[in-house]
Formats: sequence, structure tokens, C-alpha cells
Amino acid sequence: MTMYVDALVLLEHKIENKSDYPTKSRRDVIIMSNIRDKVVIITGVSSGIGEATAKELALKGAKVMMAARRENRLKEIQEEIQNNGGLAIYKVTDVSSHEQMEELANYALKEYGKIDVMINNAGVMPLSPVHEKKVNEWDMMIDVNIKGVLYGIAAVLPFMKERQEGHIINVSSVAGHLVFPSSSVYSGTKFAVRAITEGLRQEEAANNIRTTIICPGSVATELTDHISGSELKASIKERSEIAIDPENIARAISFAIEQPSDVAINELVIRPTLQEL
Ligand code: NDP
Repeated sequence: MTMYVDALVLLEHKIENKSDYPTKSRRDVIIMSNIRDKVVIITGVSSGIGEATAKELALKGAKVMMAARRENRLKEIQEEIQNNGGLAIYKVTDVSSHEQMEELANYALKEYGKIDVMINNAGVMPLSPVHEKKVNEWDMMIDVNIKGVLYGIAAVLPFMKERQEGHIINVSSVAGHLVFPSSSVYSGTKFAVRAITEGLRQEEAANNIRTTIICPGSVATELTDHISGSELKASIKERSEIAIDPENIARAISFAIEQPSDVAINELVIRPTLQEL
């Protein structure tokens, strides 16, 4: 309730100073107020969906804490956000390290004073049929896609429970609903993300912690670059021609965050219109 009152005060102010807000409708202003000043940690920000989400949320006034391994990309994205008037800091982080994920959360707390939203987005998809026994790739998918999400949850949950408020968003996939040949392990990790998130929802609902599962379909990012089988890579890339831009997933994530705090968007599936499965 307070949030809406604040938003309306803000709106009155903006109407008096019309030049500040030439294109925003009343509804836009109210919605923006629920992202403004939220502290949001996002993993996998150095490309694709994470990058688009960091930019979208910073534009809407969030205080963004960005994580990934490629520091040069993080720096460039931080500069772009800052040049557009947004607020973003970063920490080089490997999500498969429990210690580094704890350090990431502590750094966000130290710099921003609280954590409102954790977006566990980092992921890898080196698809292959099981019989090829690409054990290193299985291990990497399990480490990044499952353990990375768990470590992200573990790093922020105590602080959210203490405040009796928070939002954990985990990026799964349409492949977390469906399996196809060569996606056995990847789908296994994305089914796991959905199971973990739904369990967390039930465990923490009474603590006022919201959870959201994001399930993208085909999105134009670097994700397919790491498929090691050249034929499979070519055929997946061909199927990716209908892929939508990552900004569309960023807007879905933003939609989940901007809801009033008593509303939880628990799962969103976002496909290209032309994608059948
Ligand atoms: P990208 O390959 O563009 O981005 C993946 C991100 O994850 C990069 O920023 C990468 O950063 C980061 N990452 C990978 N490994 C690690 C690690 N060990 N530690 C920290 N960060 C890591 O792909 P997307 O943007 O598409 O992927 C984002 C999420 O969306 C993934 O979980 C993916 O499974 C999911 N998804 C994507 C779909 C698509 O079609 N693109 C469809 C469905 C789901 P760096 O290498 O710098 O560490």
C-alpha cells in the first residue's frame, strides 16, 4: 500500500514537472516504482539473457550487482549502464564455486546494504547424446546449471529470511519441461531447476519469499556456441533461426519483479511464436 502511495506522490511530482516524464503513462510510473532501488544480483551477465536483464532492470532504477567470469564484458556492460544513468557494479564470479557465490552476496550487501532479488541465470548447454560419454560436459552442466543455482539460493536465503522479504528467480528452460535426443543431461539440469524452485517456494512461502521459474524457448544468445559436436551444433543453429532476442526474456523477468509484493509470478514460459515444441 505504501508503495502505491509513494508512487502516486512521485506521479504528481512528475506531472508538475512534465518535461521529466514526457512519454510515461500513469501505469508505467506506478510499475517502475516497484523496481526502483531494488538490489538485484544477476549471474551470467556477460552475454545474452543476463546482459539484457541487467540493462532492463538498471533502466528501471534497480541497483544491479552483476556476476560472470569474463571481466572485460562485465566492465563494458557496467560502462553502458552507467552512461545511461543506471547503477551497476560487478564481481567476477564462478557460480560453480560455493565460496565465490557467498562472497558475491556479501559484496552486494556491503555495497548496497540489502538484497531484494537474486536471479540465477548463468547456464551452459553443451548438448550431446548420452552414448558419446562426454563426461566433462555433463559435469560442467551439473556444476553450473544445478549447483550454481543452489549456491545462489544458499548465498541469499539467510538474509531474505531475516528480512522476511525477497525474490529468487531461477532460469530453467522449455527443456525443463521437454526432453529431446541430445538434451538428456541438459534437460535433466533444467528439470532440476524447476523442482528445486518449486520446493523452495513451498518451504519459504511463509517467510514471504517469492520464487519465479523462467522458461525461455529459443533465444538468440551465445548458448549454442559451446556444443562440441559440429553436426549437432549446425542443426541446432539452423533450428535457432526463429530465436527471439534476449530483451524479451528480460522484460518477462522485469514483469515478475514489478508485481506488488503479495503477488508471486511462479513460472513463465516464453517461446518464439513460431516454436512448436
Ligand atoms: P549465454 O551463453 O549468452 O550466457 C550464459 C552466461 O552464463 C554467460 O554470461 C556466462 O558468462 C555465464 N556462465 C557460464 N558458466 C558460468 C560459470 N561457471 N560461472 C559464472 N557464469 C557462468 O546464454 P543465455 O543468455 O542464453 O543463457 C542464460 C540462461 O538461459 C541459461 O541458464 C540458459 O540455460 C537459459 N536458457 C537459454 C535459452 C536460449 O535459447 N538461449 C533457452 C532456454 C534457457 P561467463 O562465460 O563470462 O562466465
